[in-house]
Amino acid sequence: MAKLVPPHGSDVLKPLLLPEAQRKAEFDKAAKLKKVPMTTRETSDLIMMGIGAFTPLDGFMGYADWKGICDHYQMPSKNNLFWPIPITLSATKELADSIALNEEVALWDTETDAIMGTMKVTEKYTIDKAHECQQVFRTTDKEHPGVQKVMEQAEFNLAGPVKVLSESYYPEMFADIYQRPEESRKIFEERGWSTVAALQLRNPMHNSHAYLAWIAIEVCDGVYIHQLVGKLKPGDIPAEVRVKAIDALVNNYFRKERVLQGGYPMEMRYAGPREALLHAVFRQNYGCSHLIVGRDHAGVGDYYGPFDAQRIFNEIPIGSLLLQPLAMDWTFYCYECGTMASMKTCPHESKAVIDEEGNYKGGARLLLSGTLLRKLMSEGKPVPKEFSKPEVIKILNEYYDTLEEKVEVKLHKFATGGDQKK
Ligand SMILES: [Zn+2]
Repeated sequence: MAKLVPPHGSDVLKPLLLPEAQRKAEFDKAAKLKKVPMTTRETSDLIMMGIGAFTPLDGFMGYADWKGICDHYQMPSKNNLFWPIPITLSATKELADSIALNEEVALWDTETDAIMGTMKVTEKYTIDKAHECQQVFRTTDKEHPGVQKVMEQAEFNLAGPVKVLSESYYPEMFADIYQRPEESRKIFEERGWSTVAALQLRNPMHNSHAYLAWIAIEVCDGVYIHQLVGKLKPGDIPAEVRVKAIDALVNNYFRKERVLQGGYPMEMRYAGPREALLHAVFRQNYGCSHLIVGRDHAGVGDYYGPFDAQRIFNEIPIGSLLLQPLAMDWTFYCYECGTMASMKTCPHESKAVIDEEGNYKGGARLLLSGTLLRKLMSEGKPVPKEFSKPEVIKILNEYYDTLEEKVEVKLHKFATGGDQKK
């Protein structure tokens, strides 16, 4: 039988979530330990370690790994194994000073006021935050949401092995799609898949995403539609609505046995190319042999070139990852080609014009922006069927109808095409 790609740097997954039977005793112990508050990013990283998505990490990283990763994508503590973004835990100087080396501490999620795990503190250190930001985000601009979080984190880092005690609200709140890597791997194996392409999603799935998924299925055994669950910006579509819309698309336009839908709990850093590499590492852990990397993957604003996240896979040392990127260009429906197409295939450069009533007014490439789409839907206007299947629009419309206060979405100058930022 063909086999799935192994986890990153390990023959087996290394979930750090303590077995259920041992958790109560550890919780009791944790109640007496000093509490280290975690930011939402740190909490989400801890859960990723808990479920084995960050295999082969043992806990929050020390200085040598922090530096090795920033400068060379390498973890000295693990034979210089490839890793793209430091996974660290911050603490104030006061708190760090109060903790002795080898002392155990409780890891505290301040958002839910829950103890999420314990850590044996083996190292306390400070970092050059600007250096981390420049290396990871390619900028130190404080307007960048990922940079902002690093610059705002407390001045010390604490490192050490962790025991994870909770996956927070994810397993209950996203019961239909929340998956741990061992679960996705089991399903892939049951289906007899060996090559699986992950499709990263954090917005509703429209025809352009479906097109990527169809292409992936042509070249792999199946596609794993893997979406971000958790915190949202105002105006974003909640995960349960996105899940329903994906189901509608998959049930009507895909061979169901070739598609699996799943959700993962990591917070976005918007680190563009480096984040694409982190997405690749944890997708490999989920059992995926390929990751679809589109235009401006995991980017924000204008910080990254549209294909930086594809190019970086050629810039890292050979053999860093077993997973391979499936680099895809910007995709759309073309009225001249009469089909879905991409910048790589379609020779018609004019943009299709859709007016504010949702009517096609001419031109070729339909690059409907999320902004215009939300405006059309929130006003009950027709969305071009070439952009999105009616089943998907129906579900999104039902969601907008339930909103008591519709989100005011303003059109901006790129709304008919230029703005495809996710
Ligand atoms: Zn065309």
